[in-house]
Amino acid sequence: MIEGVPRGLGYIMMMHHVLPEGASGMPVDKKLNITPAKLESFIEQASYKYEFIHLEQVPDRIKHPTKKKFMVFTFDDGFQSVYINAFDILKKHHVPFTIFVSTGFTGIRCNTYQATGPHELGLSTEELLEINACPLATIGGHTINHPRLPLLSTSKIHEEIFININNLKTILNKTINTFAYPYGYYDKNVLNVIHDLRDDLKVCVLASGGVVSTMSNNCFLLPRLNLDDETSIHKLSHWRNTYMGFQ
Ligand SMILES: [Zn+2]
Repeated sequence: MIEGVPRGLGYIMMMHHVLPEGASGMPVDKKLNITPAKLESFIEQASYKYEFIHLEQVPDRIKHPTKKKFMVFTFDDGFQSVYINAFDILKKHHVPFTIFVSTGFTGIRCNTYQATGPHELGLSTEELLEINACPLATIGGHTINHPRLPLLSTSKIHEEIFININNLKTILNKTINTFAYPYGYYDKNVLNVIHDLRDDLKVCVLASGGVVSTMSNNCFLLPRLNLDDETSIHKLSHWRNTYMGFQ
């Protein structure tokens, strides 16, 4: 390893819906969906190159890098299709995963941020509890109503994040250690609220940015990479090796 050159350590993959081709609820933006078949084949291929770890293990991996790169699987918003179409695949392949839940959408049709197209249901409380009981699963915060946080007043930002985390804590009877910024948007006020929750929150993730590297020194702003039907392991390796000279 060359001194001072950032080194790629792994990826935090981001998904939303998991629907087969032609299913109702399919988002207009294809990047927001992965088919169950693609998810399973991606997991099978990735398992040769990457170690699948829990999101909460990432800070330790940044401090103590290993030779094998890691991969984390995350799902945003808390759509029912993750329970119906992805949960069994993740269990079958022993893949740890995190679902970031917008609690205002629990059990209702929730993708209000998609301007057009049909809507998919949010996870019910029962489904959330069943997923949470699986040792592979982590449930993280994602606000109540999925707003663009920097557009809100400080008190509203506080409410969106605190009440979401507290609702999840109450439903699941456990500490919530992870959070995803809706749309990846944050500013100084948002980070101040996150900082106030530092006794609970250990890892917060963005909606873009790609590879986690030895330069990723703020665990409240970790990058992610979208995983959809167009994502290939081959392209991932190529990008990791050329992007900013990562080794
Ligand atoms: Zn979201």
